[in-house]
Amino acid sequence: MGRKRKVYSINLSEEVKRLYNSKTGLKLIDIDVFQKWYDSKNGCCDYCGLTSNESLILFNNYPQSTRGGRRGKRLELDRIDPSIKNYGQNIKNLALACYWCNNAKTNYFTFEEFKKIGEKMKEIQQIRLNNINKR
Ligand SMILES: [Zn+2]
Repeated sequence: MGRKRKVYSINLSEEVKRLYNSKTGLKLIDIDVFQKWYDSKNGCCDYCGLTSNESLILFNNYPQSTRGGRRGKRLELDRIDPSIKNYGQNIKNLALACYWCNNAKTNYFTFEEFKKIGEKMKEIQQIRLNNINKR
């Protein structure tokens, strides 16, 4: 294994499979239904609009920001109502989130509250991505 090179494009199905396999409870949801749910998000963080590819670019440029590199390469699953423990219990309870939004939202902010914060996150992330592109 090990890092070979930076890959900025991903196969959508691979991304769906990765997310689907990231939580055991999701097996309660048919993968086709999960794929449709993912497609409805256009592969973007529900809060700031970051894509998985953009997340990887930011991860590669700010590796110290992501808990020892364990998170941040790709989008993650979040629960809108965190009291529902099983990710597969209700697909309407799933949110697609980048590491930075998921980490900042915690269980303190509601989905709707964090959408407002996500608008600001989006502005900042786009400035960072633009600066990376200028290098
Ligand atoms: Zn985000």
